[in-house]
Amino acid sequence: MSDVILKNVYKVFDDVTAVNNFSMEIKDKEFIVFVGPSGCGKTTTLRMIAGLEKITAGEVYIGDKLVNFVQPKDRDIAMVFQNYALYPHMTVYKNMAFSLKMRKFLDEKKVKKVNKKTGEITYETKKVMRKLTKDEIDQKVREAARLLEIEDYLQRKPKALSGGQRQRVAIGRAIVRNPKVFLMDEPLSNLDAKLRNQMRAELILLRQRINTTFIYVTHDQTEAMTLGDRIVIMKDGFIQQIGTPNEVFNHPKNIFVASFIGTPQMNLFDTKVNKDGTVTINETSISLNPELKLDSCVGKDVVLGIRPEHMKICKAEDQNAVKGVISVVESMGSSIHLHIDIGDVNNVIIIIPTAELSAAELVDLKYGNDIYVKWEPKLSHLFDSETTNNFMN
Ligand code: ATP
Repeated sequence: MSDVILKNVYKVFDDVTAVNNFSMEIKDKEFIVFVGPSGCGKTTTLRMIAGLEKITAGEVYIGDKLVNFVQPKDRDIAMVFQNYALYPHMTVYKNMAFSLKMRKFLDEKKVKKVNKKTGEITYETKKVMRKLTKDEIDQKVREAARLLEIEDYLQRKPKALSGGQRQRVAIGRAIVRNPKVFLMDEPLSNLDAKLRNQMRAELILLRQRINTTFIYVTHDQTEAMTLGDRIVIMKDGFIQQIGTPNEVFNHPKNIFVASFIGTPQMNLFDTKVNKDGTVTINETSISLNPELKLDSCVGKDVVLGIRPEHMKICKAEDQNAVKGVISVVESMGSSIHLHIDIGDVNNVIIIIPTAELSAAELVDLKYGNDIYVKWEPKLSHLFDSETTNNFMN
């Protein structure tokens, strides 16, 4: 069992509360991603789980063992850092074998017992700590190298490897130890965009092969969405939401989560809920999500949110059509990102798949042209301006 449980965990550095009342249960074999902007407390939380940072208050459990005062080396975790931290003077093989040589592993040993009176011989199984043999280390290193496809580089030194290869060695060094929990802190952020995408896909494959608990830190929401079974979105040391990628994308708890998850980010309009349960955007009354409990929001200052992919170009006479003016046309190949100004809200973004546009419509998408847009009311979100919370949650 490799559940990781954090109960009301705090970390205070002098005058900064880096992590504030962090509680969650990470299930055995789950892939959890901590995501949020710089300084939100992701790395500090990970370092507390690793034992590299003292916990100010609260409890951390790995398996069913309270580990607050357990040394990092005794926590049965492996950590992969952003800067790889490989030993430059050692070959790839030695880098991977090093931690196996240094530590002792729990093993079982059969101990012979002789009954002095009867002479009867029995065997007892005892738990012992022992170092691995050279052959055992070799087998583990080669198995990890095979998994990560770095068998051909085992005799090279890190400086003779590309960034992606070095990152694989860093992961390999963690895999050989067969830890209960993998902790990864921005492991891909030193790689260029193409390699990052490739390594992300490799991580998904790796996870399927080694099937253990992963806790992964990133500030990149795409990485969080593609890798995580569940995502923990943090801001200023506080958890904002914990959920599956689908939950946080489709049911964001507040404006911060709604804006942080999804690129380009959700379009937001400051408005008020009318008595008839509509909102007014640029002099047009727009229906709200039919699932909304209107009692909670009528008369209130609210923020209406619509994702760029949920806005569609329409005709002026269509129901709920809102007028805008095109400010920027960004061609992305398979889609066009259209920036429009709607009343005093600038830079509202609409994603239009290129295949959906006729040649004539494409010509019309020009700076300064008027345009009408609409969206399915059930795809809109409504937030309380004061608390920033989503009325639907
Ligand atoms: P980044 O993505 O930039 O690494 P993060 O979300 O991982 O950010 P942390 O590194 O956990 O954030 O830092 C959280 C807060 O704690 C920040 O305000 C940071 O300045 C502060 N902090 C972190 N380590 C220390 C330290 N050793 N001493 C004082 N303050 C610290």
